[in-house]
Amino acid sequence: MLYSELADTFDKLESTGGRLEMTAIMAEFFRGVDRKELRDIVYLSQGKLHPDFYPQELGMADRLVLKTIAITVGMPEAKVEDLWTKIGDPGEVAEQLIGKKKQMTLFSEDLTLERVVKGLTAIENAEGKDSQDKKMKQLANMLHDAGPVEARYLCRIVTGRMRVGAGTMTILDALAEAFATKEDRPVIERAFNVTCDIGLVAETIAEGGMDAIRAIGVQIGSPVKVMLAERLPSISEVVAKMGGRCAMEYKYDGIRVQAHIGKDGVKLFSRRLEDLTSNFPDIAQSLRTRCNSEEAIIEGECVAIHPETGFMLPFQNVTHRRKKHGMDDAVRDVPVRIFMFDILYADGKDMTNMSYPERRKALEENFSIGGMVQMTTMKVVESPEEGEEFFASAIASRCEGIMAKSLAPESIYRAGSRGFLWIKYKKDYQQALTDSFDLVVVGAFYGMGKRAGRYGALLMAAFDPESGMFETVCKLGTGFDDAFLAAMPDLLDDGLSETKPSSVQAEMVPDVWFEPTVVLEVVAAEITLSPIHTAAWGVIKEEAGLGIRFPRFTGRVRDDKSPEQATTVEEIVSMYGMQSHDSDGLSDGSE
Ligand code: AMP
Repeated sequence: MLYSELADTFDKLESTGGRLEMTAIMAEFFRGVDRKELRDIVYLSQGKLHPDFYPQELGMADRLVLKTIAITVGMPEAKVEDLWTKIGDPGEVAEQLIGKKKQMTLFSEDLTLERVVKGLTAIENAEGKDSQDKKMKQLANMLHDAGPVEARYLCRIVTGRMRVGAGTMTILDALAEAFATKEDRPVIERAFNVTCDIGLVAETIAEGGMDAIRAIGVQIGSPVKVMLAERLPSISEVVAKMGGRCAMEYKYDGIRVQAHIGKDGVKLFSRRLEDLTSNFPDIAQSLRTRCNSEEAIIEGECVAIHPETGFMLPFQNVTHRRKKHGMDDAVRDVPVRIFMFDILYADGKDMTNMSYPERRKALEENFSIGGMVQMTTMKVVESPEEGEEFFASAIASRCEGIMAKSLAPESIYRAGSRGFLWIKYKKDYQQALTDSFDLVVVGAFYGMGKRAGRYGALLMAAFDPESGMFETVCKLGTGFDDAFLAAMPDLLDDGLSETKPSSVQAEMVPDVWFEPTVVLEVVAAEITLSPIHTAAWGVIKEEAGLGIRFPRFTGRVRDDKSPEQATTVEEIVSMYGMQSHDSDGLSDGSE
C-alpha cells in the first residue's frame, strides 16, 4: 500500500469533528486495506509502531527533525527554525516546505507503507554515538519521497505528536463497523481490555472474525487493563450495596503491580502499563520462587516496609523505588512487600471469568506465601458492625481503608472497568466531604508576592472518557511547599502548549497551557456548582458545571496514573450526588 493513502486518511480524520463520521471513515479504510497491513496501520494511526505497553518510543527531538527538513529541502536551518517558531508544529513546517520542494523534484520513488514502517523501525532502534545521524538519514530518506501531507504525518509521528483525534474507542467502533456488527462491540472491547494491544485485536478480527476475537484471552507478556472500584460514603452503604455480605480486604497504600510470571522470567507492569520490573527486581525474583505454577498473572500492591520495625510505610516511601537512577541503593534502603489480591491466569487457564472466591482460592493455591510475597488481609463481613471493625483494624495496620469485594457468582475480573463488584472506602472520607481526586494539570498562573516569577497556581481538570476531553474543576494554589514550587517547571514545562490543547475544555484562561500529562492528588472540602468550571457542564444545572472548593495538593504526584486514568467527570458527578446539599447556590468559581 502507498503510504499516501494512509496519510490522506489521517488528513480526512483530522478535519472531521464527530466521532461517528470518524468511525465511518476509518471503517471504510480498514475494509479496503490488505489485512496483513492492518496491524501497522492501526498502530501508526496512534503514532506508534507497537502496542501501548511497548517501552521504546520513537521520540526524535523537534530540533533534529527541523535540521532534517532543512537538509531535505536545501534551506538554511535558521529559516526553518523561524517558520517553526511561528507555527509551532514540525509537521506543519515539513508540509509547507516539502510542498514547495515537491514541485522542483523530478525523480522520486514511491513511499510505501512497508518502507515507512522499516524506516521508523530503524529510527527507533538507532543506537550508539552516531544515533542522531542515523535517525536523520532515515527520516531524510523518507521525506525525500514524501508529498506535503505525508511529510506532515511523518514528522508528527517521529516527534510523538500524532493526534488525529481517533482514540482507541473510535478504532474499536470502526473495527466493529468494518468486520462485525454493533452488537459485537463489547466483545471486541473485552479483547482489547485483556491484551491492551489494539493492533492484535485489529489483525485478529480482520483475519479470523468474531470467533477469533472471542477466543482471545489474557496472555503472559500483554498487560491486562486493570479492574477498578467504585466508592461509597459509608461502611453501612457498602455492606448494603453488596447485599448484606461481602469480602473485605485491607486497602494498602502502595503501587499497584500486575506481575506476569513466565517460564523465563517475570515482568511487572504498573496500572498505566509501564514496565516496573527494574524498580522491583527483588519482588520479581520472590514471585518467581514462590509461584508453584509455571506461568501466572497476578495483581498486588507493593508497599514499603520500615527496615527495623517491619511496619508498613505510606505511599511516598515506595515511590523511592520509581526513580530511574540509583536503583541498587533504593532496593537496599527501601524494603518492600507485595500484598497479592488477584490472579488472572495460571498455566494456560484464563481466570478472569471466574468468581472472586474462586480466584482468591486459586491465588492461595498457586503460591507458597511468605517473605516478600503476602496475601492481602481479608475477611468475609456480614454486617455493618463487622465492616466497621474490619475498617478500624485496617487503619490500625496503617492501611488507607478497605476494599469490599462481591462474593456473588458473577463477581468476575472485569478488565478495564470500574463497577460495584469492588467498592472502596477510605479514611479520608471521614475527614472531608469527599475522597481525594486525581486531577490533571492543564494550565498554570504566574505567582505573586513570594511566588513571583514562578507558577503560583494550577488549572486542574477531570477526564471525560466518553468525549475524550479534560474539563476543568478548580484552580489549585494550596499545598505546594517550596521544593514543589521550585520543581514545577521541570515537572510541567515539557507539556507547554502555545494555545489551549484541543483536548481541554476550559472557560478560565491561565497564563500558560499544558498538554494534559501530569496527574496530582488533590483533597477538597466540597463539590459545588460552578459558573466557570466546565466539568459536567449542564448535567446538574443548565449553564453550570461542577467545581471543587478549597482544593489542596496532598504532595503526591500520581506518576503511576496516566491522564486518562484521572478522576472522571462521572465520578465527580456521583460524589456531588453523595454530598448533602444544604445550599445549591453557585460558588464564585474563584477556587
Ligand atoms: P484508588 O487508587 O483510590 O482508585 O484505589 C484503587 C487502588 O487501590 C487499586 O488500583 C490498588 O492499587 C489499590 N489497592 C490497595 N489494596 C487493594 C486491594 N486489597 N484490592 C484491590 N486494590 C487495592
